[in-house]
Amino acid sequence: MTDSDHAYDLICIGGGSGGIATARRAAAHGARCAVIEASRLGGTCVNVGCVPKKVMWQAAHSREVMARAGDYGFSGVAPTLDWGALVSARDAYIERLNGIYDRNLDKSGVDLITGHAHFIDPHTVVVDGQHYRAARFVIATGGTPGRPGIPGGDLGIDSDGFFEMTDRPEKVAVVGAGYIAVELAGVLHQLGSDVELVIRREKPLRGFDTAIQDAYVEAIGAHGPTLVNHFTPAGLEAAWGGYSLHGTDGRSLEGLDQVIWAVGRLPNTDELGLEAAGVDIDESGTIPVDAWQASNQPHIFALGDVTDNPYPLTPVAIAAGRRLADRVWGGEADRHLEYRDVPTVVFTHPPIGSVGLTEADARAVHGDAVQVYETRFVPMDFALAPAEAKQRSTMKLVCVGAEERVVGVHLFGVGSDEMLQGFAVAVRMGATKQDLDETVAIHPTSAEELVTMT
Ligand code: FAD
Ligand code: NDP
Repeated sequence: MTDSDHAYDLICIGGGSGGIATARRAAAHGARCAVIEASRLGGTCVNVGCVPKKVMWQAAHSREVMARAGDYGFSGVAPTLDWGALVSARDAYIERLNGIYDRNLDKSGVDLITGHAHFIDPHTVVVDGQHYRAARFVIATGGTPGRPGIPGGDLGIDSDGFFEMTDRPEKVAVVGAGYIAVELAGVLHQLGSDVELVIRREKPLRGFDTAIQDAYVEAIGAHGPTLVNHFTPAGLEAAWGGYSLHGTDGRSLEGLDQVIWAVGRLPNTDELGLEAAGVDIDESGTIPVDAWQASNQPHIFALGDVTDNPYPLTPVAIAAGRRLADRVWGGEADRHLEYRDVPTVVFTHPPIGSVGLTEADARAVHGDAVQVYETRFVPMDFALAPAEAKQRSTMKLVCVGAEERVVGVHLFGVGSDEMLQGFAVAVRMGATKQDLDETVAIHPTSAEELVTMT
């Protein structure tokens, strides 16, 4: 069977970050492409992820800045939030983005097929009874929020539900210890809710450098939200007085208006007919892929959150898809994404930025050849703030070898979100500590601390 026996050169299942990026790049190389999307174009990121989250973070950040206005002599700044107005402006913005994605697919010559796709054989998918055949497929179906398998685990809401809230909850528990839990807890706290961040272990953000975990725990200890640690949920009950969240150790959190589960996400593989296509999944339901994004079926690729990718982030799904298209249809034989030195920001208050190895990971690989530089300081944003309102920033450089190659940069503090990208370029290019030292500082900024550490 040749490629010309198929209606399409490529069908991407999933019109989110990865699927759209792959199809548009493949089409630019001349491939006949279609994207199949069951729901709203743009996927998780645009509709229930990065974009609405960042709008909510921006609202929360605006409130933080207004709260500091008095330090600079302003008076009469006493903001009240119209949650409904915020949500409808946010949703209108997202609708505009949905339209832009639609028009961009059209301009790129990519067909959009609307509906839920499943394979019936390795070269055919069915959508609403229609058969579509392609020489190659990309599975980019993303994931959905998971819930704990405990009594009452179906009560409360998850991150999708957070974006549907029509009012701000007065008292809320956010359960989970990863990105989504700390981000949503931070937004709600800044916007005025009484928030408990409920985690199973000592500290949240496992996998981040301990300096970042410690700085975050110290900051929320001083400014909120309230950390409830060593609390493993055993059950959730709804009553007239609000939800009660019970822990395995007998403790309970009572009188909650809302409980938000942020305990991880599950890959969307269960209704895809993968057996009919002969595509393997692992025990957690994700699709294992090789360095070329290929599944065990050489013509069926997978990328983004549906795979065993260690970085379920939008730019990672996009980068993997574009490189795949450049390789298969653009003639760039070796083009593929290397899953290393991926910069990432957690939109807490203040934000966290991290790229490369944590100190612990670097020591596990390089032992005593690791050299660490760390600084803690109060940024100028708080120069005029009263002592109890000052927030400290933390920065850490992880270096390796006699030449002190910078293999990790870890930031917590105002501006970390915008600071990290440029330092990620430096890490990627193999910068050494001396390269940072040789760079003239920009004063007065927080970023200058990264080139003046001793
Ligand atoms: P998705 O974007 O999830 O797209 C998958 C699409 O496939 C969906 O539209 C779905 O409807 C569709 N689909 C599923 N099954 C089928 C089927 N059988 N047929 C047809 N269509 C189907 N990442 C960042 O980089 N920065 C952030 O700030 C950030 N914030 C986030 C905040 C939240 C609350 C969440 C949940 C995620 C966030 N992420 C963030 C992660 C980011 O959203 C994902 O990594 C990214 O969307 C993954 O892209 P994807 O293409 O793999 O899947
Ligand atoms: P994560 O996997 O990051 O975190 C979920 C955490 O919840 C687990 O690590 C675990 O922590 C804890 N947990 C798991 N089960 C339970 C349970 N039963 N009870 C209590 N706690 C539990 O998932 P998220 O859903 O937060 O985020 C998914 C991904 O989305 C992220 O990894 C990130 O890549 C992406 N994302 C990116 C953002 C950004 O770029 N800013 C923002 C939001 C999401 P522990 O084991 O320590 O208890």
